[in-house]
Amino acid sequence: MNDFAFRQVHLDFHTSEEIAGIGSKFSKQQFQDMLKLGYVNSVTVFSKCHHGWAYHPTKANEMHPGLKFDLLGAMIEAAHEIGVKTPVYISAGLDEKMARRHPEWLRRFKDEKTANFPSPWAQDFMHPGFHEFCFNSPYLDYLIKQIEEVTANYDADGIFLDIVGVRPCYCQNCIAALRKDGNGPRDEKAVMALAEKVYANYTARVEKAVNSIKPGMRIFHNGGHIRRGRRDLASMNTHLELESLPTGGWGYDHFPLSARYVQNLGMYYLGMTGRFHTSWGEFGGYKHPNALRYETALSIANGARCSIGDQLHPEGFMDEATYSLIGTAYKEVAEKEAWCTGAVNIADVALLSLEALNIKDEGEGLAKYSGVSEAGAVRMLLEGKVLFDVIDTLEDFNKYKLVILPDRVRIDGDLKEKLDGYFQSGGKVLATGESGLNREGNCFALDIGAEWLDVNPFKPDYFKPHFELKSLRNSSFIFYSQGQKIKLAGGIELGHREDPYFNRDIFTFCSHQHTPSSLNNAGPGMVEGRAGIYFAWNIFEDYATKGSLVLKESILFALNRLLPEKRLETDLPAQGITTLTEQKSLNRYVNHLLYASPVKRGTGIEVIEDILPIYDVNVSVRVPHKVKKVYMAPRKQEIRFNQENGKVSYTVPKLECHQMIVLDY
Ligand SMILES: [Zn+2]
Repeated sequence: MNDFAFRQVHLDFHTSEEIAGIGSKFSKQQFQDMLKLGYVNSVTVFSKCHHGWAYHPTKANEMHPGLKFDLLGAMIEAAHEIGVKTPVYISAGLDEKMARRHPEWLRRFKDEKTANFPSPWAQDFMHPGFHEFCFNSPYLDYLIKQIEEVTANYDADGIFLDIVGVRPCYCQNCIAALRKDGNGPRDEKAVMALAEKVYANYTARVEKAVNSIKPGMRIFHNGGHIRRGRRDLASMNTHLELESLPTGGWGYDHFPLSARYVQNLGMYYLGMTGRFHTSWGEFGGYKHPNALRYETALSIANGARCSIGDQLHPEGFMDEATYSLIGTAYKEVAEKEAWCTGAVNIADVALLSLEALNIKDEGEGLAKYSGVSEAGAVRMLLEGKVLFDVIDTLEDFNKYKLVILPDRVRIDGDLKEKLDGYFQSGGKVLATGESGLNREGNCFALDIGAEWLDVNPFKPDYFKPHFELKSLRNSSFIFYSQGQKIKLAGGIELGHREDPYFNRDIFTFCSHQHTPSSLNNAGPGMVEGRAGIYFAWNIFEDYATKGSLVLKESILFALNRLLPEKRLETDLPAQGITTLTEQKSLNRYVNHLLYASPVKRGTGIEVIEDILPIYDVNVSVRVPHKVKKVYMAPRKQEIRFNQENGKVSYTVPKLECHQMIVLDY
């Protein structure tokens, strides 16, 4: 179980029954050649696809009508012969052939529809696409038999079950179950509770089915996102696969946010991107090799293994362009693995996740997995080169010098108790917007040095810092998000709020946009109290939406003030990313530096093509050990360093995409 592969490919194969000659061009030699070209050491091969077909002889399912041989068996044999692992994919939530035969087994929404906008699934049977099953139906028995069959008949190195999750359902099986328990379908809590029960029953049955045949085999249930705060759901898997295709809707915010949460769960995890220009199912679409180099480097810098999504052509030949592209990235990963195995991330700051607190954040579609406040906070922390983790309330706050409460964290009950304990042992928070207020939102629940008065009726309004911003000196800076009116109560005012002359309205407007500042001091806007620093706006949400520099520089001022002894400092430019990890058993720290700039091309697609080298990056790292040697890996080129009072300083002569700097102690 401890040899979780670093260089995986997730090979999709969703193939219509209207296509003949399935696997007719499959060749063991070609399959092996391509895996070698791609430096791949694990390939997830397919037993069953979204169309519902099996790609091997079967009693529990039906073989694809265009397939004449055991394609799954042939792929496993070919891969194992060259030492490549083969977890096996089963489309669990989708099976289109069965959807047409048993529509009564499908998940239903309140309006009887099988999907609701903007779901990725077909709106109805008059549109092309797949339909999602409810696992509170006889479909589950049918699925479990397929899992048992493939586990028993094939030498699989794991089972990957796709399109599953906790999903409220209004099918007649679910409605009958709700009525039997004395609840009706109008009781939304009961509907959610049933969804949880149905999912837990499904994962338990899969585990039993697999373990009764091959105890300990890896199992992963994929729902496209690992929900922060749901350790119980995460623990239903043997490891975690973070599906996060930056150009496929997840964006470049999602992976760091997700990885820095799951890294504390004590499980192996991988970052799954794709070779596609856009997303899954894109035949003939490719990203630039530099994008894959960067995305896989980002995975290993965040403690993850790598997986790259591909889709096999119906005729079963592996695409040379794809494996050459993958090979560019995986050749580098192969050289770097030794410095990533067993590495533990080091962080000064914890970002308390809104998703983990079950607080509704903004965002539609896949963007809701990142939210806006959390995405804005992650961007600022990455750009500010702050070493951070993303945590839920079960995490030990005392591991961190600072906990960030982003925009919407109201405080009561267990969280209040936990924070009070944290403050007693010297911990600090950085709170923004509604964060720090009590449940009702009418009083601070922390000693932030201020008293809450009201929600500011002026929006937008202005922040006038009592310090100079790093790049912009001082002015009345526009803050677009909702402000809070507060007054000083024992704290230090670090900046104040100015209201506009009036809100922009029919008879009161000025110029093209919002009204200028009246320049009157309207009370504190940034305060430091015993608990830390409070900003009276939803700054992170504002940053994710507008990306204004004044927001970031204001937050970084606060972070620097609260963290006088930051573990890492560097002059790496804003778009660069840095992490610091420790390989304790090898007595070394590994500092990762990355640099690439995604640019917008097309609508909503961020592309990486150019990677420009950066020269002479200065880094200093505070570590408790006496450092003996500093070198760049994997080339093992030593660099000069200087250690004073625990602070190790060095200059990295050249950074191209990704560079690891190793500090041996
Ligand atoms: Zn149902």
